[in-house]
Amino acid sequence: MNDAVQEAQAVSPTTEARPAGQKGPRGRVVIFGTWCKGCGLCVEFCPTGVLALDQDSHPIIVAPDRCTACHWCDTHCPDIAIVVHSLEVTR
Ligand code: SF4
Ligand code: SF4
Repeated sequence: MNDAVQEAQAVSPTTEARPAGQKGPRGRVVIFGTWCKGCGLCVEFCPTGVLALDQDSHPIIVAPDRCTACHWCDTHCPDIAIVVHSLEVTR
C-alpha cells in the first residue's frame, strides 16, 4: 500500500480534540506516501507499535489508538513524510 496520504483516523483538521475522560490516542498520524522512501525508521522506533511495514516496505498505521504523540517518528523521518498532530483534550 502506498497511498498518497494515509490517516489514522477520520478526524477533520478542525476537530483535533477528544472529550475529557475519553480514552484514546494522543496523536493523529498522517503518512505522505509519495514522499516516503520506505526506510522503516518510524516503524522500527515507534515505542508503542502504531506502525508496520506493508508488503512494499512502506509504513502503514496498524494501531492508531496507541499513539502517544511522542513525535519520535515525525522528528526523525529523513523525508518529512510523516506528521503527528497532537490531540488536545476538551473539557
Ligand atoms: S508519535 Fe510516537 S507513538 Fe505516535 S506513531 Fe509516532 S513514534 Fe509512534
Ligand atoms: S521514517 Fe519517513 S521515510 Fe522512513 S519509512 Fe517512515 S515515513 Fe517513510
